[in-house]
Amino acid sequence: MTIYNFGSINLDHLYQLDHFVRPGETMASNSYQCLLGGKGANQSVALAKAGARVKHVGAIHYNDQAIIKQLESLGVDTALIEKIDVPTGHAIIQLNKEAENSIILYQGANHALTEEQVDQVLSQATAGDWVLLQNETNLIEYTMRKAQEHGVKVAFNPAPMDAELTKKVLGFVDLLIVNEVEAMDLIGTSDIDSTIAAFPKAYPELAVLMTLGKAGVCYFSGKESAGKKSTGEEKLFVKAFSVKAVDTTAAGDTFIGFCLASLMNGDDITQSITRACAASAICVTRLGAASSIPTQDEVTAFLAKNS
Ligand code: ADP
Repeated sequence: MTIYNFGSINLDHLYQLDHFVRPGETMASNSYQCLLGGKGANQSVALAKAGARVKHVGAIHYNDQAIIKQLESLGVDTALIEKIDVPTGHAIIQLNKEAENSIILYQGANHALTEEQVDQVLSQATAGDWVLLQNETNLIEYTMRKAQEHGVKVAFNPAPMDAELTKKVLGFVDLLIVNEVEAMDLIGTSDIDSTIAAFPKAYPELAVLMTLGKAGVCYFSGKESAGKKSTGEEKLFVKAFSVKAVDTTAAGDTFIGFCLASLMNGDDITQSITRACAASAICVTRLGAASSIPTQDEVTAFLAKNS
């Protein structure tokens, strides 16, 4: 069973500054780091570290081969990443002394996916495989429609949230994964309790994983349980593990990777959520994005100690 992740790949250029650059100002930065990022790439890394067979589908500039090496060293299959004459997606991130950030995002190659590429990729897929998408690449609706035609399950993490686009494509989605802000934006509510109450009423057919930060995860499903037939309506809540968080970057991406890997491995939804909560709890105790995603062994050891 393979998961095709149609996802963004970004280079995050991180500059530490005393303050954000002001209009007309030129200033030297105190430090510089260039890190692999993008929700798509992070989720592929999490899936691979969780033991899933993941093929990343996307594009980068042909000069940025180091990205391919890095993803491969982490276990991601990169054969479906195109090398093209368009700048790799990137973020210019200013980080000030108060640890606030200010970000310029350039989509670049992340929006260069073509219908031919989608068709070619999905012609390799077989029923039982999954397609995963976030909202940082183009052709989302087209890819979902084609996935459905091939009998492939679709998991969608609509981040950053575009409520209009998301509502339009929900009919193609088998599993929706949202954080609380995205859920509220989609439903048009302003607090989490009414969102949890309103979601299954608004979308009774949909299986939804709603991550609630340090509170945990809520799951509800009308007809299907994360891609498997279930007997009826399901709703459950899994508490997050209590840890000392230092950086929540990539917590959601880690959760998604581990949860999907577990489901594809045949674990039930409660086991899968629990394992993903453990993985993301470890992630928030570490600084960084892809580098803070734990290995399977670390998650197994954490669960043995904490459950
Ligand atoms: P996102 O990063 O997409 O905003 P969340 O903040 O909801 O997603 O985090 C995803 C998951 O990571 C949560 O459901 C939870 O299991 C775990 N998590 C996030 N923050 C913490 C925390 N402070 N302590 C423990 N687990 C956390």
